[in-house]
Amino acid sequence: MSRNENITPLGHTPSGVPVVAEADLVVIGGGPGGFAAALRARREGCSVVLVEKFDMPGGVHTSGLQGAANTGVGGIHTELMERFAQAGAIYTATEKDLPDWAGNPLSHYDYYLPPGSPFTRSSFNPDGAGNVMVKMLEEAGVQAMYGASFADVEMVQDGAERRITHAIVETVAGRHAIAGRIFVDGSGTSEVVARAGAPFVRGGGRQSEAVSNDPQQRPIPGGLLWIMSGIDFAETAAYQKRENDPTLDKLIAKAREAGDIPPELYRPRLADQGVYGDHYIGHPTVDMSPIQGPGTFILWQNVPYEWALHMDDDAEHASRAKRELRRLIDAEARFLVKYVPGFQKAFTAHVGRYVGVRDGRHPVGEYVFSIDDARTGRRFPDAVTQPMTKTFFWDAYAKYTFEVPYRCFLPKEVNNLLLTGASLSFTFETIFMVMRNFPWCCQTGEVAGHAAARAIRQGVGPKQIRWTEPLPF
Ligand SMILES: Cc1cc2nc3c(=O)[nH]c(=O)nc-3n(C[C@H](O)[C@H](O)[C@H](O)COP(=O)(O)OP(=O)(O)OC[C@H]3O[C@@H](n4cnc5c(N)ncnc54)[C@H](O)[C@@H]3O)c2cc1C
Repeated sequence: MSRNENITPLGHTPSGVPVVAEADLVVIGGGPGGFAAALRARREGCSVVLVEKFDMPGGVHTSGLQGAANTGVGGIHTELMERFAQAGAIYTATEKDLPDWAGNPLSHYDYYLPPGSPFTRSSFNPDGAGNVMVKMLEEAGVQAMYGASFADVEMVQDGAERRITHAIVETVAGRHAIAGRIFVDGSGTSEVVARAGAPFVRGGGRQSEAVSNDPQQRPIPGGLLWIMSGIDFAETAAYQKRENDPTLDKLIAKAREAGDIPPELYRPRLADQGVYGDHYIGHPTVDMSPIQGPGTFILWQNVPYEWALHMDDDAEHASRAKRELRRLIDAEARFLVKYVPGFQKAFTAHVGRYVGVRDGRHPVGEYVFSIDDARTGRRFPDAVTQPMTKTFFWDAYAKYTFEVPYRCFLPKEVNNLLLTGASLSFTFETIFMVMRNFPWCCQTGEVAGHAAARAIRQGVGPKQIRWTEPLPF
């Protein structure tokens, strides 16, 4: 075991790991869920340690570059949007900047609008936003450990269930332990749930008939986002019109014939094959959105669905995704610069620090929220939010109004762990269609942080709290 000579350990765990910090609440992962949980609990008076393996909070939305900015939905989400704006980290493009953007088939978000119509597309600058989030945690007094990878837990038996006593983390100084009374799984992939031995369903698992009849358990593909600068989109749009080539098919065919496009790039969608919706299955053309400032766009590079990669629990899958998606990004950048008008002076400005997982482990909690709960508009005595109305595009774009019960935050078999963000106890299609998005991850993070603070104040575990009122946002 390595030891950091600069740290005086607060004793050792039963297995001999030096304990370097202790707190009421230990949050693993600083994505929107973990960030909001840590901030809320600290503001309610808890001591909080947040463990984050990258160099800033924000998860997929900063380290992963996914800077889609939405209107504030209340609470910490609204505060974030305001702070990003004050820091000059929000960029908004409209039809004045990009007259041919609405309805353009290359637009990730705005392709469905009537061509040429007005639009507003706001994004935040991922690194600028990350700086703001670092500052907000500091201002609140959260002890944030960056460059610290959560690796394991130590646990004790506690009645019929088990309790986590320490999170084991790896830093530049070696392997250390952090003692906590309550823990939050903000890893985005339920890593704490897995290490603690709590039950979960693997990504792509058949949690309901509506999901898939795929025997190979192929998850919804994750993706690596990347940014290109120096793009003259007006020139691209002029080409699309002039050559009647809205999806760049002619250029793609020419490049493919010349051997400049690998087979995995620009694959047809696998619609009508009984697998999910077609949004993330296939990638037939360039997929982009304005970000950061004029001439700069974010592009999507998704894992080919056929590869069936489980990047959250298989090291070779994770490594293959990083290798291959970098290769595909490089190939796509070369294609764009060489063949597509408007990209001649473009260059790769950033590649996300990690390949985001869209469909990782789904914990089995004290309640598992299912699509039937949404369809029937089920109400719960322990609802944590006011009823929410969301569009479920896999259910023919039906709008359902539903509530989220507190029991979805409580994994089975471990009595001092709270779930949040993309790691809630929801079936895969319900987490995917609504709750995993940035605004709701902020809200469920606040719910987890508030629950932890209440439990600490009352001297009980999160499962003993009686939740009877939705949290106002
Ligand atoms: C490619 C992609 C595109 C998306 N597009 C959109 C979109 O357009 N709009 C939208 O609203 N949502 C989008 N989402 C969904 C959304 O980004 C995620 O569901 C959301 O970020 C989940 O939040 P989270 O806090 O649960 O986890 P994450 O954002 O994944 O954050 C988890 C954090 O935990 C850290 N972490 C993980 N493991 C460890 C460990 N072992 N030790 C220490 N730290 C760890 C990570 O570094 C990360 O910072 C997208 C997701 C992906 C993958």
